[in-house]
Amino acid sequence: MLNVLNYFSKNFLRAKNFRKIELEISTRCPVRCPLCPRNMNITGDKSWNTGFLETEPLLKFIDHADAEQLIFCGGYGDPIYHPDFKKIISHISKNHPEMRLMIETNGSYKKEEWWEDLGKHTNKYHKFSFSIDGLEDSNEKYRVNANWASIISGIKALRRYHKGNIQWKYILFSHNQHQVIEAYKLAMSIGVDHFKLVKSDRHTEESRPTVNFDKVESELISFQETWKQQA
Ligand code: SF4
Repeated sequence: MLNVLNYFSKNFLRAKNFRKIELEISTRCPVRCPLCPRNMNITGDKSWNTGFLETEPLLKFIDHADAEQLIFCGGYGDPIYHPDFKKIISHISKNHPEMRLMIETNGSYKKEEWWEDLGKHTNKYHKFSFSIDGLEDSNEKYRVNANWASIISGIKALRRYHKGNIQWKYILFSHNQHQVIEAYKLAMSIGVDHFKLVKSDRHTEESRPTVNFDKVESELISFQETWKQQA
């Protein structure tokens, strides 16, 4: 367990009422995106899997900072693998009911029951952003070792109880550039609220899109308008 929050709180944290705080609460992630800093900079050792922010200091930090918005980002690890993740979410719901919370995740390997239970602890100010770059046959080309079945069943299970927003974040690659509309349709059919197409500079020569991003995005927008009119 990391105790950096103790150190940080005692030595640096004087101000309160922050507008936005981003926290990496976990360094764990079962996925191996090739251009994630975890995998790009360090290969073959466990140095990135140092653990998790210790729960009690983390909760104290959240209480003290009293931010308008908290982001549990997935930049160097994925927050859902923190062993006390539900306890943390529950604490925020109970003690900071109007604090906006964004949770970014790849969404893999958790059971339906886990997501259902999590959804019971969240509220309408909490937003989930699932990083899913393609469909069943393409997501793993960048999200190496992600688990498609558990991602989709997890979103459906979360949707049954979660009152807030669920987003599908889709980075455009050459291997998924032809699947954007299909992915959007799937997203809508499983209860996703918002589909976000992302232009990224995290490409290898092979994975760089061969189509114009703006064109794909405008085709998506016009498809979405038609889709919403028909719904
Ligand atoms: S899912 Fe996120 S944390 Fe995990 S390897 Fe990919 S970019 Fe890194």
